[in-house]
Amino acid sequence: MSTIIYPSPIFGPVHSRRLGISLGINLMPADGKVCTFNCIYCECGLNEERRPSLPLPTREQVSERLKAKLQAMVAEGQLPDVLTFAGNGEPTCHPHFAEIIGDTIRLRDLYCPQAKVSVLSNATMIHRQTVHDALMRVDNNILKLDTVDPIYIKKVDCPTGSYDVNTIIEHMKAFNGHIIIQTMFMRGTLPLKGESERGTESVDNTGEEFVGPWLEAVKEIRPQQVMIYTIDRETPTQGLLKATHEQLDQIRDRVIAAGIPCTASY
Ligand code: SF4
Repeated sequence: MSTIIYPSPIFGPVHSRRLGISLGINLMPADGKVCTFNCIYCECGLNEERRPSLPLPTREQVSERLKAKLQAMVAEGQLPDVLTFAGNGEPTCHPHFAEIIGDTIRLRDLYCPQAKVSVLSNATMIHRQTVHDALMRVDNNILKLDTVDPIYIKKVDCPTGSYDVNTIIEHMKAFNGHIIIQTMFMRGTLPLKGESERGTESVDNTGEEFVGPWLEAVKEIRPQQVMIYTIDRETPTQGLLKATHEQLDQIRDRVIAAGIPCTASY
């Protein structure tokens, strides 16, 4: 199965039509994944199959490597459009996440002041005041909310610790609109767990029973934007299917009708 483990702490730049030139910052080890979710669609693979042996990069390593890369990009005349915290897991799990955000903003201001700083996070650490405050300082605070259905979350996002979606929504509201919601919509099935069980169960969250309550939560959170997407790369779990263009377009249009900008990636 060809899932991806990214170099650490800096990778790319990656050229994308949507983001432009994106330089990746990966706060997880270079040889595995660390995440508080274990999403069945994770492009890095499942946690149990990708346990790292290397330590997390230190704050100093991140800063030095980012500085060297930005200096090289300046010398080449190819400046990044965005510095994106992503990679092998959950960036806000790093014990020095807040300080690293401060370092990154300083380096951005020095070498590429036009570039945006984006963080892709599963939102499990936003109850921590330091994480909240750091995310308030970045340009794009992109937080995952795949559904508001606790059973679906357990089945698809598979939190590794305690997770209460209503508490997460309350913490999302506390960003006062300085938040971009990112939601995965997909179809397909998952084999039932347990030796005695046979058959499959649905992982489709494109139906009204999922979209309606999700949209109500989004309206309460009042994010600056919503980004919906579907499976793009190979997944570590068999049986998952992309949401259709039509399904994504319909969901996007409902978000826009609620007065919230929304993009769909197919
Ligand atoms: S939150 Fe992101 S990194 Fe973590 S398991 Fe899910 S998709 Fe993978």
